[in-house]
Amino acid sequence: MVRVRASLSQLPAYVPGRKLPGAIVLASNESPHGLLPGVAGTLAEAAGGVSRYPDLDATDLVQALAAHHEVDPERIAVGAGSSEVCGQLLHTVVSPADEVVFGWRSFEAYPILTAVAGGTAVKVPLREHTLDLDAMAKAITDRTRLVFVCNPNNPTSTALGERELLDFADRVPRDVLIVVDEAYREYADPSLVPDALALLGDRPNVVVLRTFSKAYGLAGLRVGYCIAQPGLVSQVRKTQVPFSVSALAQRAAVLALGEGAEVARRAALTVAERDRVTRRLRELGHDVPDSHSNFVWLPLADDSADFAAHCLDGRVVVRPFLGEGVRVTIGLPEENDALLALATAWRG
Ligand SMILES: *Cc1c(COP(=O)(O)O)cnc(C)c1O
Repeated sequence: MVRVRASLSQLPAYVPGRKLPGAIVLASNESPHGLLPGVAGTLAEAAGGVSRYPDLDATDLVQALAAHHEVDPERIAVGAGSSEVCGQLLHTVVSPADEVVFGWRSFEAYPILTAVAGGTAVKVPLREHTLDLDAMAKAITDRTRLVFVCNPNNPTSTALGERELLDFADRVPRDVLIVVDEAYREYADPSLVPDALALLGDRPNVVVLRTFSKAYGLAGLRVGYCIAQPGLVSQVRKTQVPFSVSALAQRAAVLALGEGAEVARRAALTVAERDRVTRRLRELGHDVPDSHSNFVWLPLADDSADFAAHCLDGRVVVRPFLGEGVRVTIGLPEENDALLALATAWRG
């Protein structure tokens, strides 16, 4: 028998949204609007080049991101989705048995990637569906190397404000890396939710994580990136699986970055729908927290499985977290109508 690492047997596998042919899928926080117009045409053309390896350094993409964020290219590292970049950051700073602090529940990849990197996860319970930064700061010990701050938080959709983030960053020791995961940045109101790059980006122990998987509509192509100080970034780059970001993904990401106006237009449609869905779910008696992302959280506790099964019967796929709640991605208006009809009929 091959001896497998003991830490892996305890580890839950990542649960992807269910694939059900013909169903409405509101389970994985993808954009419902499909490929951006400027991306679609070029992809077919670029596909012809995939018999060759991509540019290892993703030079064009890194340049485009640097220009977009007005930072030096040396401050950017890319990966196959921000999930890979999360893993890279862990591999950069975590040695066996080092601790990694994050709120719970939060992005389900954090505990998996932490264990794979050999670290010990320290999960800090949420307070009122929101990251409890005070408790997270108190959970930091001499063994802590990294803290994930998911803002807005997946799956609860809540966000932290400027004052809280600044106070937290001031409390975290300088040798502990703070990773602010802003996968849903484009759906947040900038007057309520700070941009971590602007707020904390100059601090040596802060990394800001962004992705092309959500508002940019490229979940299936796998591109994400982080912005940090050059000394750290040069180490993070060493931990990337070579060539993990395909030429197709690099090209699509550059083109998508050039479509800022369309990305913003689509995000605004999603935000309007999100607020409509939230209002209706509250009318139905659900205690839905204010969402700053492209999904809403139904804290149904022990009813979560039943609600998800009811939706599945109506051919709408949502994402239950058993015993906790159900995450519902905001789709197109008619998809959201289908969800709301099911929610209305549930135990009605
Ligand atoms: C969806 C998501 C990501 C993005 O993952 P990719 O690997 O870039 O597709 C990262 N963080 C959080 C919190 C997410 O919800």
